[in-house]
Amino acid sequence: MKDHYGRTINYMRISITDKCNLRCKYCMPPEGVEDLGHNTILKYEEIERIVEAAASLGITKYRLTGGEPLVRKGIVNLIEQIVNIPGVEEVSMTTNGILLAKYAEDLKKAGLNRVNISIDSLKHSRYKEITRGGDLDDVIAGIHAAEKTGLTPIKINVVAMKGFNDDEIIDFAQLTLKHDYEIRFIELMPIGTALDDCKYEYISCEEIKAKLPGIIPIKEEKGVAELFKYKDAIGKIGFITPISSCFCQTCNRIRLTSDGKIKTCLHSDQEINLREVLNQNNKEALVEVIRKSINAKEERHHLGEGNAPITRDMNKIGG
Ligand code: SAM
Repeated sequence: MKDHYGRTINYMRISITDKCNLRCKYCMPPEGVEDLGHNTILKYEEIERIVEAAASLGITKYRLTGGEPLVRKGIVNLIEQIVNIPGVEEVSMTTNGILLAKYAEDLKKAGLNRVNISIDSLKHSRYKEITRGGDLDDVIAGIHAAEKTGLTPIKINVVAMKGFNDDEIIDFAQLTLKHDYEIRFIELMPIGTALDDCKYEYISCEEIKAKLPGIIPIKEEKGVAELFKYKDAIGKIGFITPISSCFCQTCNRIRLTSDGKIKTCLHSDQEINLREVLNQNNKEALVEVIRKSINAKEERHHLGEGNAPITRDMNKIGG
């Protein structure tokens, strides 16, 4: 369906948990997050009802995220259910990859189409530092498992940070010479409180591009990433610029938080609580609330305009 500003909304990101097995410094507090409890967190059956309602409004693409989606038990079964809902055309996942080697085959069998995997450093010690303890070898095994099982094309999310990984930009980009990955550089966003303890700084995609002479733009239908490639490369390089150049006019998504709220924009505190309508068990009413949420989607975000930062941490929104 179209929103108030004529944008077609056909994509929902679903955070199935706030919990994560990593503690990325810009995303998670070191102690992790409090347990939301069974009465707050959406049950899988409730997520399925929401997807059914959203699909009836023309939302065809779904991405499972978190927290870390692979830490919630029963995820494979949830995917099996969602892919069979009429109107659902694609289900993908954003994961840190730590548990991917264990689950890749089952995820593929369940009907998951593809994965985005987050890695902010190719150096073991730095990866451990930014994630507060993660083992890069687990992620690499996860990438290999995803390739082997066909959870492709694989997109690799890299949050670029001055003073942390800005000397690894070329290493990441050159992975595309030998692998069919889309390496996506993402600008660090000022979201939530976790960033307060993170000493690394924002670097714009323009600055990143300047470090990659020889990349050429690819003319493709524009998604959120602006795409480039090296001549003769197998893979692509994407730039996601939420800060330096907003892509709100082509935004096609809404988000569902693990505690049952629709977020109409990543960078707004507007949330529509689905709890009441879920408890009523009224399918039409649920469709109506989602329809109204889509219509209430903001025209654009106002990041970097001196307004107060978004209060939810990224781990509680789902990237
Ligand atoms: N656990 C999964 C993962 O690591 O991919 C999914 C959740 S994580 C919140 C989703 C994505 O959001 C990751 O690629 C992460 O790097 C990104 N992210 C988190 N906080 C961010 C921030 N402040 N700015 C930019 N990207 C951020």
